[in-house]
Amino acid sequence: MTHERVLEYPTDRHERLHGPLGYADYKSFKPWLRDEFRFRCVYCLWREVWCADGDGSFGIDHVRSRASHPEQGSDYDNLVYACGRCNSIKQDIPLPVDPCEEGWGKHLQTIPDGTVRGITALGRKTIEICRLNRPALVQARRRMRQLLQELDAGGTAESKSLLREYLSFPTNLPVLSQLHPPLEMRVQKGLPRATTNGESAVSCRRPTDHHPPGKNAPQLCLGFMICPLGPVSTAQAFP
Ligand SMILES: [Zn+2]
Repeated sequence: MTHERVLEYPTDRHERLHGPLGYADYKSFKPWLRDEFRFRCVYCLWREVWCADGDGSFGIDHVRSRASHPEQGSDYDNLVYACGRCNSIKQDIPLPVDPCEEGWGKHLQTIPDGTVRGITALGRKTIEICRLNRPALVQARRRMRQLLQELDAGGTAESKSLLREYLSFPTNLPVLSQLHPPLEMRVQKGLPRATTNGESAVSCRRPTDHHPPGKNAPQLCLGFMICPLGPVSTAQAFP
């Protein structure tokens, strides 16, 4: 079943795929963060494609707040992608588990009725801070799970097509290869070195480069990727 893992938290920590540097305004990182976090809220796992306003409903959260760590206000490694609601609820409260240091799946479990259960004390604290069991979200999770399940079981061409829409990347994928961060990007292990001359200003493993928008765009996004062109590096990073 293709839908079953959609609302599960990853058990592995989020390993950064990108490393743009030099933007003074942290909002400039948004296209990178959309791709980095698979176009979904790192906290509640809600996706852009499930929102009428798409990426307009999402923003950037500072893991360590600007109030407590002003020097990290525009540090890419301190930024995550979050829906507006989670972002406003969390505010500047430090999280007990940074999703980039430890997978939330070790602490949180989504159960079929739409509730998130804390399986550790840190998980329970995380639920409290982000209010991951706010009633509207629990109801939305339960409905989404049921909808995906029924579409998956539907067996018709229409249900398959609709299921693909719900699990696809958004249509307005950022074209990161056309973005040129002010400073040379961090060189990542095993990846080509980036430059700022525009020829290879891309150092990162990215679905949007591997799959430019169009007919070869990935068909499904499950937190891992099913790709008509074959496996991609993010499949290991996002099981
Ligand atoms: Zn959220």
